[in-house]
Amino acid sequence: MRALVLERQGELALRDIDLPTEPRAGELKIAIRTVGICGSDIHYYKHGRIGAYVVAAPMVLGHEAAGVVVGIGAGVSGFAIGDRVCMEPGIPDLTSRAAKLGRYNVDPAVRFWATPPVHGVLTPYVVHPAAFTYHLPDNVSFAEGAMVEPFAIGMQAAARAAIAPGDTAAVLGAGPIGIMTALAALSGGCARVIVADFSKEKLAIAARYDGIVPVDLRQVSMGEAVRRETGGWGVDLVFEASGHPDAFKGIFELIRPGGTVVLVGLPPGEVPVSIAAAIAREARIETVFRYANIFDRALALISAGKVDLKPLITGTFDFEDSVAAFERAAAGRPDDVKLQITVSD
Ligand SMILES: [Zn+2]
Repeated sequence: MRALVLERQGELALRDIDLPTEPRAGELKIAIRTVGICGSDIHYYKHGRIGAYVVAAPMVLGHEAAGVVVGIGAGVSGFAIGDRVCMEPGIPDLTSRAAKLGRYNVDPAVRFWATPPVHGVLTPYVVHPAAFTYHLPDNVSFAEGAMVEPFAIGMQAAARAAIAPGDTAAVLGAGPIGIMTALAALSGGCARVIVADFSKEKLAIAARYDGIVPVDLRQVSMGEAVRRETGGWGVDLVFEASGHPDAFKGIFELIRPGGTVVLVGLPPGEVPVSIAAAIAREARIETVFRYANIFDRALALISAGKVDLKPLITGTFDFEDSVAAFERAAAGRPDDVKLQITVSD
């Protein structure tokens, strides 16, 4: 089957590769319609690895996908040929201890699309467990369906934050995950979300949404911005969504006494933080690794019109132009948020 293959670091090819096409028991065969390009896809392309995950053999990229059911394996109920769906890319071992705790996203045995050695879904057909496949409501497009995966990370962050109605939050980083975390926080009850970045273009995109207060870090420090917006009290919640080591400096000084810091971005190495500043506020610290039990909630919000992710899709490419799409994503244009590839119409 034809697929976008990362041959090795820095080398992409649209070519034939052997992939499973027959659904086994509990699985669906899905014709892929739309796939979003993720920062992790770009990272594997540019660097050939993320932490301990190393691209040692050719790997199909892509994990943010929506499509149509075209085959149904034995024992599957609730799906019919022609159903429009999106898919959760991580498949845990459902008998594992982590899965039994409901924390299947941190099951050490989880197999995740386009994470070596597991192939991704930039290809016309995939097979996937029905248990991790979700119906798209009629008013949710394939493009929006392919946005559910990155949005689910923001949703997981909002859920971990345990937002109280009327909270003020701050998000560090206005990349796709930062903006989607801010949108999840607003739909979870935050009255205002301060979103900070060094990119004027990214902040302009974030600022289009009601409730988001953009902060340009080239003009004002985060501490100053938070003091100004909260009368010196501090925000109830901070979401760190940049993963940049500098963002952690003074992070606990941003929250009010008893506030919460939610760590979403993955820094490249160890970062120093002031434990004394955390203790002085009795800070609560939460961490987010992907998501669990979130896709259906994300779809419910999108379908209800509470969250509009469409403005974040800043470019759409044909499957045949996949390599060009990756070149553009790798260029990291400041006014790009999410690029998508239409695998089939
Ligand atoms: Zn992603």
